[in-house]
Amino acid sequence: MYEKERQELILTLKEKGITNERVLKAFLEVERHLFIPQALHGHAYVDNALPIGFDQTISQPYTVAFMTQVMNPQSGDKILEIGTGSGYQSVLLHYLGAKVYSIERNHDLYLRTSQLFDKLGYRIALRCSDGTLGWNEFAPYNGILVTAGGPEIPTNLKKQLAPGGKLIIPVGDRKSQQMHILQKTGEDSFKTTIVPDFSFVPLIGREGWKIG
Ligand code: SAH
Repeated sequence: MYEKERQELILTLKEKGITNERVLKAFLEVERHLFIPQALHGHAYVDNALPIGFDQTISQPYTVAFMTQVMNPQSGDKILEIGTGSGYQSVLLHYLGAKVYSIERNHDLYLRTSQLFDKLGYRIALRCSDGTLGWNEFAPYNGILVTAGGPEIPTNLKKQLAPGGKLIIPVGDRKSQQMHILQKTGEDSFKTTIVPDFSFVPLIGREGWKIG
C-alpha cells in the first residue's frame, strides 16, 4: 500500500540532501502509515510531523532521515533511542541492522507501541522511564539518538556512549533547537558538530525540561 506515495517521499528526501542509499531504501521499505492513526493515513507520506495522540508527534520524515543518515548504523551496532513515540524511528534503525533499545516516558504510548511491535514481530527492547538517565544495563552504545528537544546534553547519555560512538540530540529552547552531533573521542572528550533549525517536542526529565 502507498508505494507510489513512498517513492515520491524518497524524491523529496533526496532533494533535501539525503544521499545515503541504505537510508533511502529503509524509507522505501518501512511503511510510515502503520505508525500513525488511521484517520491520518492519507498524509503519512507527506514530509510533515503528525499527531500520534497524548500531545506527541511522529517527527517529520526529513528530520528522521537526517538523524538516521548522521547515525549511519551498521549491522550489529547497539543503538539507544530516547523518545520511542510511534516507534517509526526505532523500526528504521532495526531495519538497518542495529540492535535497538528505546525508552519512552509516556506510559500509554509505551504500551501502544509495545503492542504494535508484538503485532508486527519486531524484536526491539522497549522501556518506560526517564530517558535522560539512559539505560545503563546495556551500555555502552555505539549510538544514542534523542528524538525530543532538551535544554542541555544529559551527562548520563555521554557516559553511556562507547568510544567512537555518536550522540545526536536536539538542544535549545522549548520551541526550536539545534542538532548537536557529538562523537566520543576519549573518556570524557567529544568532537561536536551543530546543525541549526529543528523543532521537537520537549524532552522532559531529570536532565531535561521540568513539567509545570
Ligand atoms: N522517535 C519518535 C518521536 C516521538 S516524539 C517517533 O518516531 O515517532 C518524542 C517522544 O519523546 C514523545 O513520545 C515523548 O513522550 C518522549 N519523551 C519526552 N521526554 C522523554 C524522556 N525523558 N524519556 C523518554 N521519552 C521522552
